[in-house]
Amino acid sequence: EGVSHINFYSVEANEDLKERVDLQQDLRKALQTNEEFFLLYQPQVDAQTGVVKGGEALVRWRHPVNGIVPPFLFIPVAEQYGLMVALGEWIFRRACTQAAQWQQEGMKDVSISINVSGKQFSAPNFVDFVAQCLAETQVDPSGIIIELTESLAMDDAAATINLLHELKSLGLQISVDDFGTGYSSLSYLKNFPLDELKIDKAFVDGLPNDKGDQAITSAIITMAKKLSFKVVAEGVEHKEQADYLAQADCDLIQGYYFSKPILPEEFMSFYREHS
Ligand code: C2E
Ligand code: MG
Ligand code: MG
Ligand code: MG
Repeated sequence: EGVSHINFYSVEANEDLKERVDLQQDLRKALQTNEEFFLLYQPQVDAQTGVVKGGEALVRWRHPVNGIVPPFLFIPVAEQYGLMVALGEWIFRRACTQAAQWQQEGMKDVSISINVSGKQFSAPNFVDFVAQCLAETQVDPSGIIIELTESLAMDDAAATINLLHELKSLGLQISVDDFGTGYSSLSYLKNFPLDELKIDKAFVDGLPNDKGDQAITSAIITMAKKLSFKVVAEGVEHKEQADYLAQADCDLIQGYYFSKPILPEEFMSFYREHS
């Protein structure tokens, strides 16, 4: 019967066990060649000038029968069935290869952010993998940012701090994704070697009018600055949100207002138009 009856865009699909198993089998098959995966890049622009300063790599899966499957459906399946390390390694290598190519083509001062899942980050060989990947692709590591979520490794803070220091010693930067939506303590901000916080879309949605969102985004930006972190706002869809964030001194802005995630060649054009 296959998976052709699945509507990947329904939330139920994510909950139905049989469909998850089908998806798991297809994912396993896809990971044998990796030919069905590809990366889009969403521009991050300077809040004051609109100049492109970064791009976030976001994975897509082109399923042979069902078309494009969004990550919120297959990332959890990959995590659950032990496929996330393999998938994450493909993503990381692909993004580093792309970044190296762009660096050679003269795309200057543009960092590429790569999402790393908790499962991948805490796999025993992660740092070795990253080191090997950097060497293989010859990318300048100062142009690579690893995005981690807060929920990740706060359970063993000491081990996480060590890992982060090892990664930083390879020359990479570290960013906390979806900041403010996890449930960890703020104390990690002063103990973890971080470079960037990403304000979650949930706090951007109500700008510029919602008093709570104003207070939270302004407080995150102020705190980030005092800790010498860069701050990125995600999910910016409207000019009024971008204006509010620029006036609140947010460094970078990412969202549909500027661009959806786009193909590498489109990213290069976007960079040429906004640099
Ligand atoms: P994320 O890392 O927080 O990525 C931001 C998500 O917000 C992306 O969804 C992006 O397309 C979406 N987005 C950006 N701007 C806007 C906007 O203005 N409006 C709206 N409505 N959405 C916006 P996407 O690509 O579907 O990814 C969803 C999540 O899946 C990501 O959240 C991340 O947690 C995970 N993910 C995506 N790609 C990867 C990957 O390569 N590796 C890992 N480990 N996770 C990934
Ligand atoms: Mg992210
Ligand atoms: Mg995020
Ligand atoms: Mg998110």
